[in-house]
Order: sequence, then C-alpha cells, then structure tokens
Amino acid sequence: MNVVTGTGAGVLTIATGTTSAHHPPRLSRTTREPSDVYREGLKRCAQVPSVCRATSPRPSSGLTFARRRHSQSLDSPYLSRPRMKRRGAVSYDKNDAAAEYIRYLGDTLNQQRHVQTCTPLAELPANKLVSLSVPSRRHSRRGSIQNHTSQQCYKDLLKGSILQRVGAEEQARLIQELLRKADHWDFDIFAFRRVTGGRPLFHMGLHLLQQHHLISYWNLDIMKVMKFLALVESAYHPDNCYHNCTHAADVAQALHCLLMEPKLNSNITPLELLAIMIAALCHDLDHPGVNQSFLLSTSSYLASIHGQTSILEQHHCRATKAILREVGLLDHLPDQEREEIISLMEELILSTDFTRHKTFMATFEGMLVSDHSIDLSEPSVRKFVLKIAIKAADVSNPTRPLEISRTWSEHIMEEFFRQGDCERTMNLPISYMCDRYTISLPESQSGFMEFCALPLYKAWSKLCGSKLSISLCKNVVNNKTWWDQRIPKSDSEEDC
Ligand SMILES: [Zn+2]
Repeated sequence: MNVVTGTGAGVLTIATGTTSAHHPPRLSRTTREPSDVYREGLKRCAQVPSVCRATSPRPSSGLTFARRRHSQSLDSPYLSRPRMKRRGAVSYDKNDAAAEYIRYLGDTLNQQRHVQTCTPLAELPANKLVSLSVPSRRHSRRGSIQNHTSQQCYKDLLKGSILQRVGAEEQARLIQELLRKADHWDFDIFAFRRVTGGRPLFHMGLHLLQQHHLISYWNLDIMKVMKFLALVESAYHPDNCYHNCTHAADVAQALHCLLMEPKLNSNITPLELLAIMIAALCHDLDHPGVNQSFLLSTSSYLASIHGQTSILEQHHCRATKAILREVGLLDHLPDQEREEIISLMEELILSTDFTRHKTFMATFEGMLVSDHSIDLSEPSVRKFVLKIAIKAADVSNPTRPLEISRTWSEHIMEEFFRQGDCERTMNLPISYMCDRYTISLPESQSGFMEFCALPLYKAWSKLCGSKLSISLCKNVVNNKTWWDQRIPKSDSEEDC
C-alpha cells in the first residue's frame, strides 16, 4: 500500500516575522489591539458556521465573465449544467482589447477542437446529491454584497442554495468529514469533488485559508473571500479533462501538506503563505486545455499577447490579478504589502511553467550539493524553495496512492490526446505526447515518473529529510512499477 499520511494534524504556525526583513510590517499586526475593522473581520469569520456550510456565492451582476451571459448555465453546478459553448475567459480590463482576443480565442478553440464533449470529471453518485442544483440567486447590482450586513448577506447566499435542498445536512457532514483528512497525503480529491457537488476548489480554498488563519490575520472580508473563490472556480474550464478546478484544488491540498514540513513551516511568513495559497488555487486559471505549442502553432491571440514563452502561465497570472481586482480582496492592505503579495504570487505561478523545469532542477540540485543545510531563514532562498514547493505540488500526481494517481494519469493523457486529435484534423504536426495512436499510457507515465517526478521528489526529500518526503519517493517508485508491468512487450522481448 502506498498510503502516506501527512506530517500531522496541526496547522502551520504562522511566523511573526520578527527575524524576517522580508516582512517587517507584520510585527504590529499580531500584537496590536484589534481595531474596529479587525474586530469586524473576526466577527464575520465567526458568523460563517463552517466551511461545510459555506455555499458558493454566485458572481454578482457586475462581474466581467463572458460566460455570465448564460444565466441558465451559471446557476447550475458544473456537472448538471448543460454543455455550452464557452466563449472565452476573463475580461481583464473593460477597455482592454485583449479581452476581445481572449473571447475570440475561446471561439476559435471550440471550432478547432470539434467541440468534443469531455466526460465530466466529477460524475456525481447516483444518489440525491445528483439532483442538487443551485437555483438563481444573484445580486441585482454590482457591489451589492458589500451593501448587506454580513449576517444578512450570508443568509442571502444560503437562500435557494444547495443547503436548502434535501441532503444538505448529509452533504455538509460528508464534506466536513473529508476535510478532516486534508492534512494527509492520501486525501481523495475525487471523493471530495463528488461530495461538494463539483465545487472542490471553493470548499478546499476556504478550508485552507481558514486553517492557516490567513483570513483573520490579513483581515480579509469573508464575503470577498467567498466571492473570490467562486470566481476562481468558475474561471476554470469544466470541460478540460485535467486542467480544471479539481486539479487546482488538488495542488492546493498537496502544497498545504508540503508546507507543513517543519523546516518550511517554521520560516514561512504570512505574506508568503497568502501569496502561495492564492498561487496554488489560481496557477492554471482559465487554462484552455491545450499547451503552449498548440497556441503557437495556431497563432492564437494568447501567443500574440504574451509572446513566445510562458504564454499560459502569464495568462494565469493576468487572469488572477483580474479577479483580485474585481473582488477587491486585497484592497484594504497598504500598497506595498499588496504589491509584494501579488508580485510573489506571480513569480510562483510563472515557476510552474514546465518548460523551465530543468533549469529549476539544476539550481535546486546545485544548492543541495553545495550546501546541505539550506538556510530557509534567508528570504531569497525561501522564495526559491517555495517555487520548488508549488512545482512539486503541481506534479504530485505520481506521489499519490495508486488509484488516485492512475486516475490523474488517464485524465491528463486524455487532455493531451484531444489536443492531438485536433492537430490531426487541422493538419498540424501532432505535439509531443499528444498522439493517441502512438503514445503508450504506461510508457509515458513510467517515463514521467522516472525523469521528472522522482528526481524532484528525491531532491525535496533531501531538503526536508522527513518521513513524509521519503514516503512520497517510495510512492513514485511503487506507481512506476505498476505502470512498468503494463508496458507492452516488444516482439523481440516476447521471443526471449
Ligand atoms: Zn497545474
């Protein structure tokens, strides 16, 4: 069994930053008398009974998502939502021509991809959860959320939500039960997706922000937090087999476990913690389900906007900033702190560009060879290790228990193959790993584990030296062995 538990049930201790030059302003925040604003923030947090009872606020009418025009679809959970033609993505700025480009891209991709309906990732079980739907409840005006008292607002959000339907209590109990295991590496994100009715990112995001005390520490308005999470979740494409909100929730949960490593836990600052949590939740935001090579070969507008490198990652950053601005989640913070958080969040998202993997690995392994006691109290070193952490979380599928790991393997390869199908139809060269007629799933997975996941997790284990990090390497080896046993033997091998 390659089941691994996390490092413990405790949550991260938030460093006060007394020794960190990177985060001096936070010193007074933890010690000062709560201001009225702060008290109000705490009060609002307390009014949210639990993450499990939190329903997803629907975007207000002023939000700029193109898909919001489809009000019927918007009010249904992803899985029961009738398939619609996605018209693109986040409108960054109202005056920005890029918004039109992105919408155009959405249309173009749909045409190019033969609109091949992806099997929904979160098949709801055939019980009463299937019938859950979120009927219309939208605020009539932009900013109306802020105009409510928090208690009234929360009641409004519950009105007509899944909590009023049959099974709500049972659903809440199940979600809470699963979230108790969120500190463990064998957390089943697919089960979580089912019990949340296809809303894993919203519930996981809220849980992790609460677990790390980030909402109270940063005086975040709980309503804005919920609105932010709802918007982030809805900006992921539900018809992507892999790059969807379940993957983002999975990465955030994996990162949560990795950050509990004592070496990191004792050094990370609240600013870094908030930045990396936002980065994890948003690192594939509005992913179109195709890779950079496809965007370049089809001369997409995303390529024309972002250049030739890290096209998708730049897009994820920009979309994240658009939602942060839309919600005003960090607007109450001093400019410098807000800019630091956003800047770090950007760097972390950009580091998930897999084309830069070798460079990161070379630097990381170099650091480990030259100095076995990497000084994580040094902000620049810590920033690099945080980049490694989010990269590790992003490719954590091979380190999960076999059943979960296998499911992820199938999903990512299906997404690749659909891109390949599209390229074949368009008479384009089929991208690496995207040809369903020549690529062997067992071979591709075994190769990925051997050359990408294992070296990264071995280096991580060298850094942390913990029981958990060593177990993750063992999991990769076990999963690789399972795939190796399924690699078709060549004729010559069979003859032997
Ligand atoms: Zn990812």
